[in-house]
Amino acid sequence: SAAFNYGEALQKSLWFYEAQRSGKLPEDNRVSWRGDSALGDGKDAGLDLTGGWYDAGDHVKFGLPMAYSATMLAWGGVEHKSAYAASGQLRYLQDNLRFVNDYFIKAHPSANVLYGQVGNGADDHKWWGPAEVMPMARPAYKIDASCPGSDLAGQTAAAMASSSMVFADSDPAYASKLLTHAKQLYAFADAYRGKYSDCITDAQAYYNSWSGYHDELVWGAIWLYKATGDTTYLAKAESAYDKLSTEPQTTTRSYRWTLSWDDTSYGSYVLLAQLTGKQRYIDDTNRWLDWWTVGVNGAKVRYSPGGQAVLDSWGSLRYAANTAFAALSYSDWLTGDPVRKARYHDFAVRQIDYALGDNPRKSSYVVGFGANPPTKPHHRTSHGSWTDQLTNPADNRHVLYGALVGGPSSADDAYTDDRSNYVNNEVATDYNAAFTGALARLYAEYGGSPLAGFPQAEKPDGSEISVQASVNASGAGFTEIKAYLVNKSAWPARALTHASLRYYFTLDGSVTPDQISTTTNYNQCGKVTGPTHFAGDVYFVTVDCSNAVIAPAGQSAYRKEVQFRITSAGAWNPANDWSYQALPTTPGSTPVDAPHIVLAEGSATQWGAEP
Ligand code: BGC
Ligand code: CA
Ligand code: CA
Repeated sequence: SAAFNYGEALQKSLWFYEAQRSGKLPEDNRVSWRGDSALGDGKDAGLDLTGGWYDAGDHVKFGLPMAYSATMLAWGGVEHKSAYAASGQLRYLQDNLRFVNDYFIKAHPSANVLYGQVGNGADDHKWWGPAEVMPMARPAYKIDASCPGSDLAGQTAAAMASSSMVFADSDPAYASKLLTHAKQLYAFADAYRGKYSDCITDAQAYYNSWSGYHDELVWGAIWLYKATGDTTYLAKAESAYDKLSTEPQTTTRSYRWTLSWDDTSYGSYVLLAQLTGKQRYIDDTNRWLDWWTVGVNGAKVRYSPGGQAVLDSWGSLRYAANTAFAALSYSDWLTGDPVRKARYHDFAVRQIDYALGDNPRKSSYVVGFGANPPTKPHHRTSHGSWTDQLTNPADNRHVLYGALVGGPSSADDAYTDDRSNYVNNEVATDYNAAFTGALARLYAEYGGSPLAGFPQAEKPDGSEISVQASVNASGAGFTEIKAYLVNKSAWPARALTHASLRYYFTLDGSVTPDQISTTTNYNQCGKVTGPTHFAGDVYFVTVDCSNAVIAPAGQSAYRKEVQFRITSAGAWNPANDWSYQALPTTPGSTPVDAPHIVLAEGSATQWGAEP
């Protein structure tokens, strides 16, 4: 019986990849609070490198974890295609794989060139706002024959080869295009050996190639063999296998870690066991998965009292999910060893269920799913700050459905839903990748139903764009207004680049328009013009703010202030002026929402009513 609705979890876990999209969004975008972003990516290299996925709670496009995540999603798709189809999620899996592979195609403009990062880590991380209004430059970084990266190229080859298998039936032309790139990338990885982070040095602080590139050479060859059936790839995989890491001072293949963006050796143990049936791969897989379950020579991964297998402090649930997915794949294949078959299966179900809510906190670790889920993931765009502040506003403005957070950092089941904690509470494309495949596998076994009508479009939490104003000063012949043009937009975030204000008033007595003059005092906008006739004896003045970009991108970026004075050479009575109504008149009052001052972007009204 199903402990959780795996169909719903699968649906949401896949949707998370749509929230991570960079570049131009397709017409059928399902994330109501996302818009186009980073449309200049690649310009510095003379290329179009738009698209792909933002890595995590940040907006860098890191190539190695992006490729790893695509490979793992595709592996889940290859293995559980019928579960994806039965749950109605195959289409979304394919959409997401196509989106990321379209980016890999752009990032691979010639045989031995691969762009492996867009965005500078430090510049990106020091700013906290929505992707749609990022202010910083986003440089592109590449590997090539003179400074190669066999890990990055090998993993991208694996991503494109595995993805090609998901498109083989439905879109053979696309599948074959992906395979062409995969073969070239693998040849590049193989012929020009090196660690990508020695070339794309900016990645060292974030996704350093700790494990080196032998694992990706094995892995890329395995996926090319699976996709093509060409045994020369299998032979390459098997011969490169001998170079995989071993436990210190032994010849025993490493087993005290797991499959991740950095090291796909463990995934190769499983796939080579399945592909060849050879004992060495079976032994290597068993030893690794035993260490994660019953222990090897008395030692095993740490377990929390509540049952979580905790490998590392950072993103612990992701390592457990990665291992769970591979354990399921291996268990499904294993015959003649019923003890291990059950052991690995049960381990996997336990770890996935822990993440879904079967834990001492009785709480889900997946945003927008299950009981008491995290609501404050460390994720810039879903938080929706307009002031470039992690602490403002207090609550995330969007629900980042399906995102698996890092989880407990010790084997103690402890966790707090704290946005500032990126060790416990960040989300990432690599965290969700194997997790999604595991959910598809559990859906196949236990069922569940994706939610009908998911996702609902979100409703903004108030006026996204507004004018706030007060009467700064007034006298017998003049009114001086202090006004803010405010942009807190987040559905999606968007910049105002052609903003203007209109202030409406009624001429009094026998005053003619040429007796009215305007001046500005403090002014972050441009010229004040008018008066312009509106209707009857009503006129307006216009404050042009098209010199400024008003965007929810920081404390001085999200609003602009203008103080303008309208002076009459004759009579002047503000009491009958449309825009004056409802403004606080005590000098020095704080500006408040000004429903009768109109803010337009170009000719499109954003706020305020005309008389
Ligand atoms: C970023 C995170 C990142 C962390 C460590 C933070 O500033 O927001 O995305 O994981 O730095 O690099
Ligand atoms: Ca590696
Ligand atoms: Ca008047």
